[in-house]
Amino acid sequence: MFSFAGVSTVDSLIVPALNRFVENVFAYDMGTWDALQASFREDRCALNITPVMLSYAEYQNVKDKPYTREHVVDTRVLAFSNFRDARPWGLDIYQYPNPACGTRAHNIIFHADGKQHYGRRWIQTLMKTRCLSCGDARKGIRAPSWVHQCDGDNLACVWYNWPLTISQQMEIGIMY
Ligand SMILES: [Zn+2]
Repeated sequence: MFSFAGVSTVDSLIVPALNRFVENVFAYDMGTWDALQASFREDRCALNITPVMLSYAEYQNVKDKPYTREHVVDTRVLAFSNFRDARPWGLDIYQYPNPACGTRAHNIIFHADGKQHYGRRWIQTLMKTRCLSCGDARKGIRAPSWVHQCDGDNLACVWYNWPLTISQQMEIGIMY
Protein backbone atom coordinates (compact mmCIF):
# COMPACT_ATOMS: atom_id res chain seq x y z
CA MET A 1 0.00 0.00 0.00
CA PHE A 2 1.45 3.31 -1.08
CA SER A 3 0.35 6.80 -0.04
CA PHE A 4 1.55 10.35 0.08
CA ALA A 5 2.40 11.56 3.56
CA GLY A 6 2.54 15.27 2.80
CA VAL A 7 -0.10 17.93 2.87
CA SER A 8 -0.49 18.23 -0.90
CA THR A 9 0.92 16.77 -4.08
CA VAL A 10 1.74 18.21 -7.49
CA ASP A 11 0.82 15.41 -9.88
CA SER A 12 3.16 16.30 -12.72
CA LEU A 13 6.20 16.22 -10.44
CA ILE A 14 5.26 13.01 -8.65
CA VAL A 15 4.20 10.85 -11.59
CA PRO A 16 7.68 10.13 -13.05
CA ALA A 17 8.96 8.73 -9.74
CA LEU A 18 5.73 6.82 -9.20
CA ASN A 19 5.99 5.29 -12.67
CA ARG A 20 9.56 4.20 -11.97
CA PHE A 21 8.44 2.64 -8.69
CA VAL A 22 5.73 0.58 -10.39
CA GLU A 23 8.15 -0.40 -13.15
CA ASN A 24 10.84 -1.45 -10.65
CA VAL A 25 8.39 -3.67 -8.78
CA PHE A 26 6.56 -5.28 -11.67
CA ALA A 27 9.03 -5.23 -14.56
CA TYR A 28 12.31 -5.66 -12.66
CA ASP A 29 10.95 -7.66 -9.74
CA MET A 30 12.66 -5.53 -7.09
CA GLY A 31 11.52 -5.72 -3.48
CA THR A 32 8.90 -3.07 -2.78
CA TRP A 33 10.98 -1.10 -0.29
CA ASP A 34 14.15 -1.17 -2.41
CA ALA A 35 12.08 -0.15 -5.42
CA LEU A 36 10.57 2.77 -3.56
CA GLN A 37 13.98 4.00 -2.46
CA ALA A 38 15.46 3.57 -5.94
CA SER A 39 12.59 5.46 -7.55
CA PHE A 40 12.30 8.39 -5.17
CA ARG A 41 15.74 8.76 -3.63
CA GLU A 42 17.30 10.53 -6.59
CA ASP A 43 14.16 12.47 -7.47
CA ARG A 44 14.55 15.56 -5.35
CA CYS A 45 11.55 17.18 -7.04
CA ALA A 46 9.12 14.47 -6.03
CA LEU A 47 10.29 13.92 -2.45
CA ASN A 48 10.68 17.61 -1.81
CA ILE A 49 6.96 18.01 -2.43
CA THR A 50 5.76 15.17 -0.31
CA PRO A 51 7.16 12.38 1.82
CA VAL A 52 5.78 9.01 0.75
CA MET A 53 4.58 6.14 2.89
CA LEU A 54 4.67 2.45 2.11
CA SER A 55 3.14 -0.51 3.93
CA TYR A 56 4.59 -3.73 2.65
CA ALA A 57 5.31 -7.37 3.37
CA GLU A 58 8.27 -9.08 1.75
CA TYR A 59 11.28 -11.30 2.27
CA GLN A 60 14.53 -9.39 2.71
CA ASN A 61 18.14 -10.46 2.93
CA VAL A 62 19.59 -10.12 6.40
CA LYS A 63 22.55 -7.76 6.64
CA ASP A 64 25.88 -9.52 7.22
CA LYS A 65 24.18 -12.96 7.09
CA PRO A 66 24.44 -14.50 3.65
CA TYR A 67 21.72 -16.97 2.60
CA THR A 68 19.41 -15.76 5.35
CA ARG A 69 16.09 -14.11 4.59
CA GLU A 70 13.50 -12.73 6.93
CA HIS A 71 9.85 -11.93 6.45
CA VAL A 72 9.33 -8.23 7.01
CA VAL A 73 6.00 -6.48 7.48
CA ASP A 74 6.52 -2.80 7.87
CA THR A 75 5.21 0.70 7.31
CA ARG A 76 7.84 3.28 6.51
CA VAL A 77 7.93 6.92 5.50
CA LEU A 78 10.57 7.98 2.99
CA ALA A 79 11.44 11.68 3.14
CA PHE A 80 14.05 14.32 2.41
CA SER A 81 15.72 16.14 5.25
CA ASN A 82 15.97 19.83 4.57
CA PHE A 83 16.78 22.31 7.35
CA ARG A 84 16.11 25.33 5.16
CA ASP A 85 12.61 24.15 4.26
CA ALA A 86 11.77 23.38 7.89
CA ARG A 87 11.89 19.63 7.43
CA PRO A 88 14.61 18.50 9.85
CA TRP A 89 15.44 14.80 9.44
CA GLY A 90 12.51 14.57 7.01
CA LEU A 91 10.04 15.56 9.75
CA ASP A 92 7.76 18.37 8.58
CA ILE A 93 5.54 17.53 11.57
CA TYR A 94 8.25 18.78 13.96
CA GLN A 95 6.98 21.14 16.66
CA TYR A 96 8.89 23.24 19.11
CA PRO A 97 9.67 20.91 22.05
CA ASN A 98 8.56 23.36 24.69
CA PRO A 99 5.05 22.91 26.13
CA ALA A 100 4.64 26.66 26.52
CA CYS A 101 5.19 27.16 22.81
CA GLY A 102 4.78 24.09 20.60
CA THR A 103 4.83 26.14 17.43
CA ARG A 104 5.05 24.26 14.15
CA ALA A 105 8.10 23.70 11.95
CA HIS A 106 7.43 26.61 9.58
CA ASN A 107 7.84 28.98 12.54
CA ILE A 108 11.25 27.60 13.47
CA ILE A 109 14.65 28.32 11.91
CA PHE A 110 16.76 25.18 11.50
CA HIS A 111 20.53 25.12 10.87
CA ALA A 112 23.33 22.60 11.00
CA ASP A 113 25.21 23.10 14.29
CA GLY A 114 28.98 22.92 14.02
CA LYS A 115 30.65 20.37 11.83
CA GLN A 116 28.64 19.10 8.91
CA HIS A 117 29.16 15.36 8.34
CA TYR A 118 29.13 13.70 4.95
CA GLY A 119 28.85 10.18 3.59
CA ARG A 120 27.54 7.49 5.94
CA ARG A 121 27.91 9.86 8.89
CA TRP A 122 25.73 12.58 7.42
CA ILE A 123 22.95 11.67 9.88
CA GLN A 124 25.30 12.55 12.77
CA THR A 125 25.26 16.23 11.85
CA LEU A 126 23.89 18.22 14.78
CA MET A 127 21.15 20.81 14.50
CA LYS A 128 20.46 24.15 16.12
CA THR A 129 17.07 25.82 16.18
CA ARG A 130 15.59 29.21 16.91
CA CYS A 131 11.88 29.59 17.48
CA LEU A 132 10.29 32.59 15.78
CA SER A 133 7.32 32.35 18.07
CA CYS A 134 8.93 32.37 21.55
CA GLY A 135 12.51 33.32 20.64
CA ASP A 136 13.98 30.27 22.37
CA ALA A 137 17.19 28.86 20.87
CA ARG A 138 18.60 25.34 21.19
CA LYS A 139 21.87 23.80 20.07
CA GLY A 140 23.48 20.40 19.68
CA ILE A 141 20.29 18.55 18.76
CA ARG A 142 20.87 15.03 17.42
CA ALA A 143 18.75 13.31 14.81
CA PRO A 144 16.30 10.98 16.55
CA SER A 145 17.76 7.46 16.73
CA TRP A 146 14.71 6.11 14.88
CA VAL A 147 15.38 8.25 11.80
CA HIS A 148 17.57 6.24 9.44
CA GLN A 149 19.73 7.45 6.60
CA CYS A 150 18.93 5.73 3.30
CA ASP A 151 21.57 3.95 1.26
CA GLY A 152 22.83 5.69 -1.84
CA ASP A 153 24.35 8.97 -2.84
CA ASN A 154 21.59 11.23 -1.71
CA LEU A 155 22.63 12.02 1.84
CA ALA A 156 19.47 13.86 2.76
CA CYS A 157 17.18 10.92 2.13
CA VAL A 158 15.85 9.31 5.32
CA TRP A 159 13.22 6.84 6.44
CA TYR A 160 11.39 6.15 9.68
CA ASN A 161 8.67 3.76 10.79
CA TRP A 162 5.07 4.88 10.88
CA PRO A 163 3.06 5.54 12.97
CA LEU A 164 5.35 7.16 15.50
CA THR A 165 5.20 5.89 19.08
CA ILE A 166 4.17 8.20 21.91
CA SER A 167 7.79 8.67 23.01
CA GLN A 168 8.85 9.45 19.44
CA GLN A 169 6.07 12.02 19.18
CA MET A 170 7.22 13.55 22.46
CA GLU A 171 10.78 13.71 21.17
CA ILE A 172 9.76 15.96 18.28
CA GLY A 173 7.36 18.08 20.26
CA ILE A 174 4.05 16.74 18.95
CA MET A 175 2.96 15.44 22.34
CA TYR A 176 3.87 16.27 25.93
ZN1 LIG B 1 8.73 28.70 20.54
